[in-house]
Amino acid sequence: MNVDWQGAGDIQAIFGTLIDKELNCTVEERDRLSIPISNALIEKFARRGLYKYNLPAVWGGQEVGYAQWGRVLEKLGYLSTDLSFPFLISVRMSFISFLIAVGREDINNEYLVHLIEGKTGGAFAYTEDADAFSFVSRAVPSADGKTYTVNAVKKIVTGGETANYFLLFVHGDTADMQVFLVHADDPGVVVTPSVMHGCRSTGIACLTLTDVQLDKHRLLLATDGLSFAQRYFLNCRRSLQTTLFLGRARAVIETTVAYLQNTVRYDQQLIDMQHVQACIGEMYMALESSRTLVHYSLERQVRQESDVYWDAVASMAKYQAVEDVNKIALQALNLTGGWGYTESSGIGRAHRDFTALVAGADPQEKLKVDMGIRMVHDLDMMSRRSSKKES
Ligand SMILES: Cc1cc2nc3c(=O)[nH]c(=O)nc-3n(C[C@H](O)[C@H](O)[C@H](O)COP(=O)(O)OP(=O)(O)OC[C@H]3O[C@@H](n4cnc5c(N)ncnc54)[C@H](O)[C@@H]3O)c2cc1C
Repeated sequence: MNVDWQGAGDIQAIFGTLIDKELNCTVEERDRLSIPISNALIEKFARRGLYKYNLPAVWGGQEVGYAQWGRVLEKLGYLSTDLSFPFLISVRMSFISFLIAVGREDINNEYLVHLIEGKTGGAFAYTEDADAFSFVSRAVPSADGKTYTVNAVKKIVTGGETANYFLLFVHGDTADMQVFLVHADDPGVVVTPSVMHGCRSTGIACLTLTDVQLDKHRLLLATDGLSFAQRYFLNCRRSLQTTLFLGRARAVIETTVAYLQNTVRYDQQLIDMQHVQACIGEMYMALESSRTLVHYSLERQVRQESDVYWDAVASMAKYQAVEDVNKIALQALNLTGGWGYTESSGIGRAHRDFTALVAGADPQEKLKVDMGIRMVHDLDMMSRRSSKKES
């Protein structure tokens, strides 16, 4: 860390030695070989209190809320040259928050302590190769209702390779979505690691369940799983998870500026060329305008002003941040020539990692459609209301 950006020194003081010595030193090999960040390493971070920030006080947490938690993730993204680390942490923390939101005392007593201590970890198994209304993964109850037979294929599960538990979203005997808690070692569960374009050390995997027998106490939500997923997994995370990408984008800008200050072409430092300065200005504006929108969106969430099921501001914040971090990475490659392309510069890797949210957390093109529908609907409702008033 060269500068104390956004007060990242506070996070550096607590976690800096682990980040520098156990993450940043080994990032290139881990990324090249798609080696997932180990549970043992995550446990070391948890011991220093990483999961405590956004945890309710009854579970020993600080209850800082989504806006402050977003700032912690942003600083982790800034400090960790491996973006997979804060990405994985954000997922695991959301898994803990989801279980707490379900509010089952037996489940909390059985799982939460070890999850919070980082001894175990969980992942979300939601997406399949279909839209949410056409999922083919199914849970069929036995005649006496004591067990379920579950068959499912979930293609992209972040942290799946190292997860002990999965929150599995399937259809029950009606079209309603149900949520089960599945153990990685339940008979019939297979986890197949995937090699992805970016964020390779999150341990993305495909989860397959073949005739898995689950006791009924593993059924966390019998009905309305889709609304619950929107509220406690998809919608509440949509702008949150861009924060770590924004932190890394800031680090990419700093790396780019350092290269430009030390590189001479045609007897002139690159940093003194006005076209280069304009490009840096563009990167800076892209970063700060997205940061403003993302943090505003998280603060609205904390003030309970946002729509808990589908918030337009959170969705547009995610859309804008993803466009901007990708623009920043490409601009950095434009400015740093062949050096930026090398693994050791970290810029090429950031370029691959930043594409993760083009598809993840709702694809960019789909968000545009959703936003258009929302705008047309809002205008329609407004004009109906005003014509009602006039009549
Ligand atoms: C890095 C990464 C991590 C992920 N982690 C997880 C995880 O932990 N758990 C999990 O369950 N999933 C995870 N996913 C999956 C992710 O949530 C999905 O990829 C995402 O929701 C999109 O779903 P899909 O892949 O089925 O694509 P679809 O939504 O089917 O979209 C496919 C294409 O069709 C377009 N499209 C879709 N609907 C419309 C429409 N109405 N109008 C116009 N175009 C449309 C989209 O723009 C897109 O280009 C992850 C994905 C990535 C990339």
